[in-house]
Amino acid sequence: MSTGAQPVHRPWRTARAGAVAPESAARLTRQHRRPAVMQEPVLVLNATFEPINVTAVRRALVLLLKGVAQAEESNTTQVHSTSKSVQVPSVIRLLAYRHIPQQTRALSRKNILLRDHNTCQFCGRTFPASELTLDHVMPRSRGGRSSWENLVACCYACNNSKGDRTPEEAGIELSRRPRPFTLHTSRQLMRLIGHKDEKWRKYLFY
Ligand SMILES: [Zn+2]
Repeated sequence: MSTGAQPVHRPWRTARAGAVAPESAARLTRQHRRPAVMQEPVLVLNATFEPINVTAVRRALVLLLKGVAQAEESNTTQVHSTSKSVQVPSVIRLLAYRHIPQQTRALSRKNILLRDHNTCQFCGRTFPASELTLDHVMPRSRGGRSSWENLVACCYACNNSKGDRTPEEAGIELSRRPRPFTLHTSRQLMRLIGHKDEKWRKYLFY
């Protein structure tokens, strides 16, 4: 995909990001004294404008300075280094198309809780991560595997009452069938994270 000539109202695009050495990117991000800004979420689009990820401003600036991505939307906030000032990006787009495997997320406690929105899949109540455990829907003692389809977020009370039984045996019901963490799930999360940023909307709500 060609970077092409870009309109002048996007000053960062015209800054020839590809010509900047990566060390400048590191310096720019290191010197910045407002860490809160650097942690703000940035939507990452594939070259095809398909949303693929959410990253932090710090990482997004490195991608811009390396010439790997260009800013599609920016904030009014600027970050400064000794030689340049850069508008903080809100949405960036990769210049080269990146193939995204069907399942990009590792099976982990953190990702299961993310998928289930920190909600116990049996009683439907939301808890802090520390008050949730993972439940094997088909118990391990009965051959249940540790997989996306057999692990759910579960509060300790439900986990204890279910014990070594299937939901049917315990007389409880899953609020929904557990599925792998797909790009679709990731998009739902992007929508949640990007809810406050109007600039994300046209890329997410299609
Ligand atoms: Zn529960």
